[in-house]
Amino acid sequence: MDHTKINLLVKLQHLDNQIESIVSLQKGLPEEIDALDEDLLFTTRQIESRKKIADEQLKQRSRLHETINECKHKILNFKEKQTLARNNKEYDALSKQIEYEEKEIAQAEIQLQDIVHTIQRVEEIQKKGRQLITENRYDEITEEMMPDDVLQQQLEDLNKQVTHKKEELESIVIETAEDVDSLKKKVTDQRTLIDLEAKRLLDKYDHLRSGTLRNAVVKLNRNACSGCNTRVPTNRHTMIVQGGFYLCESCGRIVVHERLFEEAED
Ligand SMILES: [Zn+2]
Repeated sequence: MDHTKINLLVKLQHLDNQIESIVSLQKGLPEEIDALDEDLLFTTRQIESRKKIADEQLKQRSRLHETINECKHKILNFKEKQTLARNNKEYDALSKQIEYEEKEIAQAEIQLQDIVHTIQRVEEIQKKGRQLITENRYDEITEEMMPDDVLQQQLEDLNKQVTHKKEELESIVIETAEDVDSLKKKVTDQRTLIDLEAKRLLDKYDHLRSGTLRNAVVKLNRNACSGCNTRVPTNRHTMIVQGGFYLCESCGRIVVHERLFEEAED
């Protein structure tokens, strides 16, 4: 068996492992940032929808107050005209118009009351939420129970966290960019070399790594494949010790003696 071919492949795995370990420094950060971004979006939407409702209520209230004022103004006019009425018929007609305006006022006031009640109900629900917060009963708090100021604070906190995590990730990426680039170049060179010398081994390596598995070439550890811990038959040990390789019957990984990895570091 030509042992130099497997040495070339171990070297490739060693380089790929180095890239993996550098990339693993940022592990979790991109996912964490995604999760925070999602929370941020959710909180922003909550605040926006509350603001929309509040704006709508404010608009409606001022519209109703305007209606009431107009009605009152009309009533004053009608009353003035009544003092000048020339007969009962004219007077009664004005009384009817006054009555109509008074009904309009009453209706507007009912609508105003409704808005006030809605606002009070929201305040009460938020008060309940605040109480639950002081009692640390967070899992009982519903979306609408979250007090406005707490929600606002949450938004600010999330913004800070996202900014912080993004900066952290960026600095890791910048710090390691040079190493990763240089390793990637070595990987390309190594692959070109193996492609010429041992194409079938390279195909095997790529096939193994085509899924989520990263370690296609692994060490023999306590007479077992260190990828899946399945025992390697005794009659294959000698070959491995001599620098050959064994294809694990269980996981298909390429098992070699650990010495080969040490050599690959040079
Ligand atoms: Zn295995």
